Amino acid sequence: MELIDGNRIATAIIAELKAEVAALPGRKPCLALVRVGEDPASVSYVRKKEQTAAEIGVTGRVILPPVTITQAELEKLIDGLNADPAVDGILVQSPLPKHLDELAIFRRVAPHKDVDGFNTINLGKIAQEDDTGFVSCTPAGIMELLARSGTDLKGKHVVVLGRSLIVGKPVALLALQKRAGANGTVTICHSGTRDLPAITRLADVLIAAIGRAEFVTADMVKPGAVVIDVGINRVPDATKKTGYRLTGDVHFPTVAPVSSKITPVPGGVGPMTVAMLMKNTVKARKPGTFTA
Ligand code: NDP
Repeated sequence: MELIDGNRIATAIIAELKAEVAALPGRKPCLALVRVGEDPASVSYVRKKEQTAAEIGVTGRVILPPVTITQAELEKLIDGLNADPAVDGILVQSPLPKHLDELAIFRRVAPHKDVDGFNTINLGKIAQEDDTGFVSCTPAGIMELLARSGTDLKGKHVVVLGRSLIVGKPVALLALQKRAGANGTVTICHSGTRDLPAITRLADVLIAAIGRAEFVTADMVKPGAVVIDVGINRVPDATKKTGYRLTGDVHFPTVAPVSSKITPVPGGVGPMTVAMLMKNTVKARKPGTFTA
């Protein structure tokens, strides 16, 4: 079994981006990070994104509207960022408080500044295999992890657990694309899937993104499969100072021995998501990258 080290791969990407930003003429790329409210996971994700931006020379502009902000006010804020020539990328940290329509906000971000890749246009560009768009960061990070760990999907059966717009659907479309590294045969499973273990056992590459702690057990995995664990779940743990531990959607202790390659949690997909956000931001700074 080989561990796919997301920290190491993300560090390499960040170093590449740092060199790229240093060589960019003129103003440095600017990323607006919008976080509504004080959700603890969102606070830590935005802090990490801000730190990584600073590390590579991207200007981070953190905007913290109060949790009471209305839909109309948040849309006005996004419109202002869309129109601001000093802002290259806009990220609205998910999840938004329940009273806000998240999908409408994702759609409001101008496609050419949508470095999170959740706008309708950018999701559509994945289906059209149009590289001028922005691929959402976690799916892009998964593809990069596979490529940089020497896993070619060509001819392989890729099973994706989960069909969210943020992970499951876009990663399935990326794995399906007719291009080097992809070309997989893809099955997507969800809560309506019958006899899920029978399907996951057919996977050469299993991508778990369902948000259920340690859901995937060894009996659900074909020996020798590559396992990508996207899940980030907080499980109560009295032995930890925080009172919880982080775990993936895969039961690592039993699945790791049967897999050929596997990502850990933490230290797998998570760091890649931030690295790909930075990659998209640098891409957004380059004139003429995005075409409508
Ligand atoms: P969502 O809750 O939006 O989607 C979960 C998906 O899993 C849904 O399609 C759901 O099916 C399916 N599902 C849930 N339970 C089951 C089940 N028992 N059997 C089969 N399918 C099931 O989650 P996300 O995609 O946003 O996130 C998934 C996980 O990835 C979470 O742990 C999240 O924290 C993590 N994550 C990690 C990131 C990273 O950077 N590493 C980034 C984003 C997410 P249905 O559609 O039928 O409801």
